[in-house]
Amino acid sequence: MNCPACCANAEHFVSTNDGLRIACPICGEYDVASSVVATEQLRRLEPDERIDVLNKAKRCAQPGARPMITTYLLASHIELGGLATTISD
Ligand SMILES: [Zn+2]
Repeated sequence: MNCPACCANAEHFVSTNDGLRIACPICGEYDVASSVVATEQLRRLEPDERIDVLNKAKRCAQPGARPMITTYLLASHIELGGLATTISD
């Protein structure tokens, strides 16, 4: 399976209860929240937007923790879809 962010061939791709866990040779290790996977929000973004979201996730991650792409991070990129209005956090 390819990396959801950069479409490179990811080395490690595991589905967990929380979503997907990815080890990409370009992006590094990160998680994609199950809510993002379920709604396929990441696929709707342009490639450069996906990388942007991943970079945001990396900046938000706790030291030593894997970054996670969440619907909250995606919201600013999908405002036209009305997603932002459904997120109260
Ligand atoms: Zn990647």
